[in-house]
Amino acid sequence: MITRFAPSPTGPLHLGHAYSAMLAHDMAKATGGMFLLRIEDIDRTRARPEWETQIYEDLHWLGLSWPEPVMRQSERLSAYHEVIDQMWWDRLLYQCTCTRADILAALSAPQEGISYGPDGPIYPGTCRNRNQDRDHYPSPAPHEAVLRLDLQTYPVGLSPFQFHDDAKGDVHFSLEQLQTQVGDIIIGRKDMGTSYHLSAVLDDAMQGVTHVIRGEDLFEATQIHVALQKLLNLPTPTYHHHKLIRDGQGKRLAKRDDARAIRKYRDEGASPHDIRRMVGLPAV
Ligand code: GLU
Repeated sequence: MITRFAPSPTGPLHLGHAYSAMLAHDMAKATGGMFLLRIEDIDRTRARPEWETQIYEDLHWLGLSWPEPVMRQSERLSAYHEVIDQMWWDRLLYQCTCTRADILAALSAPQEGISYGPDGPIYPGTCRNRNQDRDHYPSPAPHEAVLRLDLQTYPVGLSPFQFHDDAKGDVHFSLEQLQTQVGDIIIGRKDMGTSYHLSAVLDDAMQGVTHVIRGEDLFEATQIHVALQKLLNLPTPTYHHHKLIRDGQGKRLAKRDDARAIRKYRDEGASPHDIRRMVGLPAV
């Protein structure tokens, strides 16, 4: 079993991250497998080197180890761009210049009604239907427009889709469901020319990850990932979407929840064993 923990260095790791990382580490070790760390730092406006350093420190303190060098997404941009180029020439992408306000305005037309997918309001396809020159490749990143996946040109023959989730069992869905419940998601963002979805899918395949262990808040995104794996001829790992760690009021922890930062517990004298107990993991 090859598992991974893939944090974005945009804030301190909190108890929820500790749970996810230790669970992925425990599951790999229990099967004689391997636990990998990947730094998801494509968002250059939010990623900070000091958060990355603290991620290494916190995870080491928790007793985790992983092979070096660690994969950092900021060093893999050319690999992502190559795939995006190919997708463009395969007519699977289109340029979209809609702002968030444009999307909300299009969706609030009386006949539409707003539905939400994993990335927010489901894109109504405005720019897909706009005449655009698909023979002209958009300038390399930073793009003037985002690049969206065209689910109308997605090969019907690859549907229906299936993946295995440890909690939910075999999950099935169709291209039609993807079109109505997810929509044409962004594959290439303007600034970095890639997106979380595309990068995570390519990296999981590149690293040979067999079990993706992450919070259940990403369950809906898994549909996108499975559809991309099929499209790009990549294997689909097994998924393990785990419970989210909540605060005293039952609210899920966010990055800015500094009160639950691992660092804070460390500074207050807690041990890694205490952290395991707090998130409900057995002692090792
Ligand atoms: N970088 C993502 C996050 O920090 C993790 C995504 C994943 O595990 O696939 O939320």
